[in-house]
Amino acid sequence: MYKSGKKFIKRVVLDSIARLVDESAKIYHTDKKLSRRYMEIAWKMVMRYKAKLPDGLKKKFCRKCLSPSILGETSEIKSGFYHCLVCGYRRKLKQ
Ligand SMILES: [Zn+2]
Repeated sequence: MYKSGKKFIKRVVLDSIARLVDESAKIYHTDKKLSRRYMEIAWKMVMRYKAKLPDGLKKKFCRKCLSPSILGETSEIKSGFYHCLVCGYRRKLKQ
């Protein structure tokens, strides 16, 4: 019972993180502050539940400055590298 409960929590946590990251990117233009807040909440959940993010989700934000990744605006992906245009962070992407 406990084990399945734990699994359930993990799924709910990943769902919420994905939703927060999506929302954060959506409102980035209209409200940068709130967008950032969403990312902070999402990141706190990652830490708290030690959630393993799927690769697709990892690409959606910069883990250094926690900006949502909007291609061509806050981020670039060039020759296998993720490049954050906000803080300049570069990370190799798994192919
Ligand atoms: Zn960054």
